[in-house]
Amino acid sequence: MKTPNFLKNYTLPLLREQIRALGEQQFRAAQIFDAVYSHKVNNFDDIATLPKNIRVRLNEEFVFSSIRLQKVQESADGTKKFLFELFDGRAIETVLIPSEMVTEEGTPKRMTICVSTQVGCPLNCQFCATASLKLKRNLATAEIVDQLLEVQKYIGKKITNLVFMGMGEPMLNYDNVMNAVSIFTYGEEPLLGSKRITLSTAGVIPGIIRMADEKSPIKLAISLHATTNGLRNAIMPIARKYDLKQLGDAIEYYYRKTRRAITYEYILFNEINDSELDAKRLAKFTRRVPSKVNVIPFHDIEFTNPTGIAADLKPASDEKFRTFIRLLQNNDVTVMIRSSSGEDIDAACGQLAFSNAVADNVVQQYSELQL
Ligand code: SAH
Repeated sequence: MKTPNFLKNYTLPLLREQIRALGEQQFRAAQIFDAVYSHKVNNFDDIATLPKNIRVRLNEEFVFSSIRLQKVQESADGTKKFLFELFDGRAIETVLIPSEMVTEEGTPKRMTICVSTQVGCPLNCQFCATASLKLKRNLATAEIVDQLLEVQKYIGKKITNLVFMGMGEPMLNYDNVMNAVSIFTYGEEPLLGSKRITLSTAGVIPGIIRMADEKSPIKLAISLHATTNGLRNAIMPIARKYDLKQLGDAIEYYYRKTRRAITYEYILFNEINDSELDAKRLAKFTRRVPSKVNVIPFHDIEFTNPTGIAADLKPASDEKFRTFIRLLQNNDVTVMIRSSSGEDIDAACGQLAFSNAVADNVVQQYSELQL
C-alpha cells in the first residue's frame, strides 16, 4: 500500500518546495505552518489565511491527518496510554506521563509524551515487549508529529516534554525522526523547545555520529543495561554489532562535538547486572563524559510469554535497588530513578506491545477503512 502524501511529512523548507511545485507562492508554506502548528487547525478548510482555490488544491494534494485515535487507557497514577490506528490498519501506542510535582493550581508541572518511531522494532532486546512484534515498518514524519498533536488535542493541555522512547529504535528511522524534531521546534513559539526533546537509542552508533556531526540540538539518552560485552550481547543483540568500546568512543565523539551531557538508562535485573562490580564498571563507563544515570526498575513483560534468557530476567529487590544507587553515588555518579508510571496499564517503559487483546481487534476491524 502506498503511503499517502501526508501534509505533516514536510518541514518548512520541504513544504515550500511542494507549494512552489503546485505553482503557488512559497510564503503560503509559512501560512500553512502557522495555521497547523500554532493555531492547530484540524483541516485545510479552516486555514482562513488561504484563498479558497489554494485550500481546494491542498485537499487534492495532501492528506491532513495521518493517525486516528482508537482507545485511551488511564492508569491510577494519571498516566495515559493512547492506541492509534494508522492508514494501513497497523497500530502504535503513545504514552502521556504527567509529572508528580504539581503547580499551585493543582496541574502537573510537566507533561511528558513518550512517542513511537517505528511500528514494532527490529532490535529484539530480550527485556522489551515491543520486540515481540518484530519490525513492521518505519513511521512517516507525519505519524510521529501527529502523536503529539492528537494527544495534546485530547487532553487540552500543553505537552511540555517529549521522549522518543515509545515503540521502535529512533536511530533506524533517523530522517523521519529529525524531520519531526524540526517541525516540533519550528517558529518563535514552537510546540517544544529542543532541550525538552530526548532521543533514546539502544546504541546504534551511526545515528550517534550523525547527531554529533549535525550538532543536533536535542538530548541524547543511551540504553546501556550492561557493563560487559558478554551480558550486553545476550540481552541486546544490537550490541554484537556495536560493542561497548565502540559505543564509548562514539559517545565521547558526540560529547566533543556537542558539549551536551548524556543520559544513560540502566534497567536493574535481579542477580544479572546488580552487583557491586557492575556498579563500579557502570561508574567507570559513564565517567568518560558528563552524564547522569537513570536507574530503571524492570517492568514485567510476562504477557509476551518470554523464553530463553528473557524468562530469567526479574526485577531487583527494593533493597538491591537502593544499594545499587548508593554504590553509584559513592562513585560520583549522578543518579536519577525512573518511576514505573503506568505499569498497571502496561504503559511503562518497554511494555508497549498491545498487551490489551482489545487493541488487536480494534485494529483488525478498522483495517479495511481508509482514513
Ligand atoms: N529503542 C530505544 C527507545 C525505546 S525503549 C532504546 O532502546 O533506547 C525506551 C527505554 O525503555 C529504553 O531505555 C529501554 O531499554 C527501556 N525498556 C525496555 N524494556 C523495558 C522493561 N521491560 N522495563 C523497563 N525498561 C524497559
